[in-house]
Amino acid sequence: MIRLSEPFVASIAHSLNLAQIPCVLWGHYLLVLHGIPSGVGSIDFIVPDDLLADGLKILSQLKGLAPCPGGKHCPSRSADRYTPPPAVHVHVEASEVRVGLYPQADVLWFLPPLDGSLVCPKKSQLSRYFVLASDDNVLPPWRPGRGSGVFKEGGDKVVALKCHVMLEALMRTYARDEGASVGGFGASTIVYVEKFVDNDGFLDLKSMKHLNCTTCAAQRVASSV
Ligand SMILES: [Zn+2]
Ligand SMILES: [Zn+2]
Repeated sequence: MIRLSEPFVASIAHSLNLAQIPCVLWGHYLLVLHGIPSGVGSIDFIVPDDLLADGLKILSQLKGLAPCPGGKHCPSRSADRYTPPPAVHVHVEASEVRVGLYPQADVLWFLPPLDGSLVCPKKSQLSRYFVLASDDNVLPPWRPGRGSGVFKEGGDKVVALKCHVMLEALMRTYARDEGASVGGFGASTIVYVEKFVDNDGFLDLKSMKHLNCTTCAAQRVASSV
């Protein structure tokens, strides 16, 4: 399982960042970061829409990652539970683990564009939607039977969604894709997040309600002048 280790995830994020590609953790790894029990069959990131091709190029050059053989030869095709699947992906060599990239338009279209400030992530400069994977003030510790929680290694190189933003993204994606033939990921995950994270008190429902609230936005503008 060394290929799924936190330093490995951090090294992928760092390589994308070095190429000036902002990236935000998504998928199974984001769930376990928030303490939600999940198998991890993929390492996924969200990138700006216009940097998808550049991102794929970077992934293809990384040691230990191999291009997708395509079509029915793709080892993770049948295991795909996502709605929608990543736009591009590669594979961890000699394993079924997939490393995927999603364009922002697919999952985070309701947030401002991912910009250059995420390329060199610093806790103090992150906007209120994001958290560093190393931030133990926001993320849960490791607990038996639960997702692994806050990164113990390399987390300061990995930008992740805060829990309420992740839930918002899942709900919006689910609402948008309702009626599509592959619906498993959204519904079960939303139930999971609510069940596990909300009970823990890590889910900031107040922030969630006010994510796109115009009153709050006006107040933030007023208080920043
Ligand atoms: Zn593949
Ligand atoms: Zn509000």
